[in-house]
Order: sequence, then C-alpha cells, then structure tokens
Amino acid sequence: MKILISNDDGFRAPGIVALYEALKDVAEVEVVAPEQNNSAKSNALTLHTPLYVHPAPNGFRYVNGTPADCVHIALTGLLGYRPDLVVSGINNGANMGDDTIYSGTVGAAMEGYLFGVPAIAFSQVERDWKHIDAAAAKARELVLQMSQQGLIGSTPWLLNVNMPNLPLDQMGDLKLCRLGRRHAAEAVITQQSPRGETMYWIGAAGPAKDEAEGTDFYATAQGHVAITPLKVDLTDHEQLGDWAKNVSRLNGLN
Ligand code: MN
Repeated sequence: MKILISNDDGFRAPGIVALYEALKDVAEVEVVAPEQNNSAKSNALTLHTPLYVHPAPNGFRYVNGTPADCVHIALTGLLGYRPDLVVSGINNGANMGDDTIYSGTVGAAMEGYLFGVPAIAFSQVERDWKHIDAAAAKARELVLQMSQQGLIGSTPWLLNVNMPNLPLDQMGDLKLCRLGRRHAAEAVITQQSPRGETMYWIGAAGPAKDEAEGTDFYATAQGHVAITPLKVDLTDHEQLGDWAKNVSRLNGLN
C-alpha cells in the first residue's frame, strides 16, 4: 500500500509528524505538505504564482502553496505513481459540520478524492495537540483495518474523521455520523495597526447549532470517533422541485 500524507497546518505541525510516524511501517508513505499554516484554505489552488517543492531534513517535502496544491502536484507529476490512499491531518482542531466547507484538511483529502483516490481527513477536536499520539495510533488502526477489510481499493471515497483528545484506552468506538451545523461565525475583530490603519481579524467559528444525536458534534462529545462520508456535489436535490417551478415562472416573465 502507498499512502500520500498532507495537511493544512504545515509540514512542521505535530499532527502530521505523529501521523507519519504512525503510518510509516504499515505502508510506503510520502509526505507533501504546505510550508506554512494553510488552515481554512479549503480547496484553493495557486494559479498565479509559481510553486516550489523543497525537501525537509526529515524526508518530508514542503510546498509554498495550499493543501490542495500539495496533493494536486503530488498526484499529477511529483510522485510518479498513484497512491492507494490520501490521508490528511491530523488537524489541530475540529473539522465538524460547516467547518468542512472551509477546512484545508478536508480540502487536501478532497483533492485526492477528485483524482479518484480514496481519502481520509483526520482532525482532533481540541486545538492543543493533547493526546496527539493517541489520535495517530487510532488513525493507524483505522487505516490498517480498512486495508485488511479490502476497503482501500479502486473505488474512491472521502471520509471525514474527528477524534476526541483522549488517551487511546478512553477513546470510544467509531460512530458513523452526519455533519452537524454551526451558528454563523463570531464577529470580526478589529485593531489599530501601528500606522493607524484598522486591521480586521476573522473571528472564531460559531458554536454548534445542530449537535443532535447522529451528528459529529454529538459523537465526539460522547468520546467517540466521528466518521462521516462526504461528497462533492453541492446540488440541493430536495430543492430541485421548488426551483423547477420558480425557474419556469422566471422564464414565463420574458
Ligand atoms: Mn488546520
């Protein structure tokens, strides 16, 4: 098995180092990850500045681009082979509910999925790296078991996995979840720059709004590992009927 690892917190982040250490003896593993923190870059690609790939002393390669750039470059030329699995993370903080839209961790995995490679995005729900080795051990266990069960093959899928920051023996079972929802983000934070201009800092993500049983928020709050299959098609299929009526009415106005 060949695994490509990336992340959005940058190639020096404890989460990607722990993930690499956990997976390096279960597969041929290569790491191609952003040089800087690229959290919340979603699936962004860099089109107007050149990208460079540099080797790090630990064997990782880092790119002056986004998570999706890293996976894109790796899959379309850098690796020279097709990995069996793309793994992203382990992220410093939750990627649950609406976070998945913004997440560079999910973006890196999604880039693999878009190229037809099975992909997993791993995140720890608390942002302090506490029990990162336990999260990495859990990720290793999941990848190994999926491989043994024949789930890592030619059929692509995209999984979003959020793990509670707990020791391994306290981490609960996998729970298959739907995404919850968050309230809208907190207000933007403003400060005066030393030159007297107003600086704007994007505020924190909103608190959970839909954290009902069955959601990723609920499962991780209970100490479980939340696993959610994601898709790329954003079509609101439930709304197609109503919009068929609206669109024909709009056309009738011509
Ligand atoms: Mn991140």
